Amino acid sequence: MAFIKKSERKHRLDPEFEELATPKDLLDLARKRGVETNPINISQLASELGIVVRYEPMSDEDSGQLKKDKKSGDWIMTVNSLHHPHRQRFTIAHEIAHRIRHAANSDHFEDKTFFRNNESNWMEAEANQFAAALIMPEEAFTKFVEEKSAKVEDLALHFKVSSMAVRIRAKSLGYEGHNA
Ligand SMILES: [Zn+2]
Repeated sequence: MAFIKKSERKHRLDPEFEELATPKDLLDLARKRGVETNPINISQLASELGIVVRYEPMSDEDSGQLKKDKKSGDWIMTVNSLHHPHRQRFTIAHEIAHRIRHAANSDHFEDKTFFRNNESNWMEAEANQFAAALIMPEEAFTKFVEEKSAKVEDLALHFKVSSMAVRIRAKSLGYEGHNA
């Protein structure tokens, strides 16, 4: 990992993604293309964005990676096939965030276990926030809590994510006491 000075941040977006810079934009696109959004079919969305998604066994601490193929120019996402499908969903959303927001900065991202120490890098922190908002949009999250259940396990089952991801999302949306 390299350090990047904040002043050197390049936030140029790939021109093809100028209109798709936020989780909300991607959810709108998904609806337009007939991709399920409640909750989001994240692997189908990745395909709609032209990203090739592959599943390969990796060591447990590796979640996945995103790489631009030098010959074809294709963006290839590799997801740890040994992880639980709910963890894979977050990985895919996280790599989508790198593709959409950070492709001007790097053409190779490698991701270890999320939510540990990897948020020291601004791109990792942003990708995690982006992924959480894509899979658990604020409106849908609030609606589920108010109308169905506020239990971490129920939210995790509904959004098909880990309970850790639910807890972090709840906290960032201002909910407290989600230790049940
Ligand atoms: Zn990352």
